[in-house]
Amino acid sequence: MSVWIPLDENLAASARPLLLVDRDGVVIEDRDYLGDPSGVVLLPGAAEALALARAGGWLVVGVSNQSGIGRRRFGEADFAAVMSRLDALLARAGARFDGFYYCPHVPADRCACRKPLTGLIDQAGLSGRLGGRKVWMVGDKADDIALGRSLGARCVLVRTGHGAREEASVRERWAGDPDVSIRADLAAAVDLALADPPEGGGS
Ligand SMILES: [Mg+2]
Ligand SMILES: [Zn+2]
Repeated sequence: MSVWIPLDENLAASARPLLLVDRDGVVIEDRDYLGDPSGVVLLPGAAEALALARAGGWLVVGVSNQSGIGRRRFGEADFAAVMSRLDALLARAGARFDGFYYCPHVPADRCACRKPLTGLIDQAGLSGRLGGRKVWMVGDKADDIALGRSLGARCVLVRTGHGAREEASVRERWAGDPDVSIRADLAAAVDLALADPPEGGGS
């Protein structure tokens, strides 16, 4: 199991709205193969946005591809140090993840958990439990949007991280899909999700 923070089983089974968030380029600055906790830099407004979502009753679950582990660019201990640093920075803003799952593999491993595949959702105990609740996915790459759409989630591509570079291809790939939106950053994405009406607005 590639889990940093396990999602509580009762929360996974609940009908609480769910915010799935990518980490790099969404919550923190994207640094290639980040294995050094001193390189953890929150993006402006990101921690506050996660705190706002949780205050609104949303579960916040991180899902992150960390192929730097599989490429031996850094180890699991380095990943843990980075996550501890992130958790500390989030806590200062009153924010935290309810769950955090990551894929340590490289594409050649052909694992089931590398986004856009849904293995991390399985690991979180959320598979089969998304139908009766609002589900939103926020990421900065097409793979994040592809994961979200395969779950039936409403998706937001943010322009932070790789997002600005991915915007054109995401617009083309999901042209006319009302459940794919593009916003400046996580704060704007969370604003959009929190405005999702309680009934009938999500998928
Ligand atoms: Mg990312
Ligand atoms: Zn994997």
